[in-house]
Amino acid sequence: MGNLEGAVVVVTGAGRGMGRAIAEELGAAGAKVVVNYARSKEPAEEVVQKLSQNGAQDAVAIGADVSKPDEAKKLIDETLERFGRIDVLVNNAGITVDKTMKKLTTDDWDKVVQVDLNSSYYTVKAALSQFIEQESGTIINISSFVGQAGNFGQTNYSAAKAGMIGFTKSAAQELARYNVTVNAICPGFIETDMFAAVPEEVKDKIRARIPLGRIGEPHEVARAIRFLVEDGSYITGQTININGGIYMQ
Ligand code: NAP
Repeated sequence: MGNLEGAVVVVTGAGRGMGRAIAEELGAAGAKVVVNYARSKEPAEEVVQKLSQNGAQDAVAIGADVSKPDEAKKLIDETLERFGRIDVLVNNAGITVDKTMKKLTTDDWDKVVQVDLNSSYYTVKAALSQFIEQESGTIINISSFVGQAGNFGQTNYSAAKAGMIGFTKSAAQELARYNVTVNAICPGFIETDMFAAVPEEVKDKIRARIPLGRIGEPHEVARAIRFLVEDGSYITGQTININGGIYMQ
């Protein structure tokens, strides 16, 4: 899409973690940023303040649980009421409920699929007519290397994240005619609250598996997303791996 100056960017789950870093990176390039949150209202409001001081043209926090179709629609509707368009939609909201299948309940499965997969369909569906009318837009779905490689204790999460890759490729084919690109990002392990929840002894084992020998930083994912938005006009339907080499395709 090119220049981010004045572009309208929606990032789901942007009050903390990777979503926050993405909002900050795109905001610093002059975008108008919608900082979506579900539970992190105060952190999201802090992000808005920081964005306004660091180059964003405008910023607003909008509460919506995007795992619910009506709330995802509300997020998109409120964005359009305020800014009149959407240039970049980053589906970042995600949760984990890690258990082996022996212990996993149907509720654990449904919760993760609802947040980590279905929410992306809900936001894209709600924004679809706007993207079609604009004949431009960039959709970025934050998947995971776990959706490519699988992971012990994460059948629900890996299924949702793999589903996101399939959704990305199909949506890219449907929306290319409207000049809308759709790509998936597959981060490896990144230093956020999600990774902090991993037990220390498991963290050591994880580090030992990463060729670059360290956990990634949220801004390293955010920088790649900025590249995709600013310079990726001919990139669509792709899965971009930012994972320190833990999974190589
Ligand atoms: P995190 O620190 O746990 O943050 C999760 C974010 O998702 C929070 O901002 C949270 O918002 C939001 N969220 C959760 N449920 C939501 C809902 N129903 N509606 C709206 N927002 C919701 O996790 P993270 O590491 O930043 O993860 C961001 C994305 O990257 C996720 O999709 C995750 O699966 C993916 N990822 C992470 C890693 C990693 O190692 N960290 C690796 C690969 C992929 P609230 O606080 O407001 O609820």
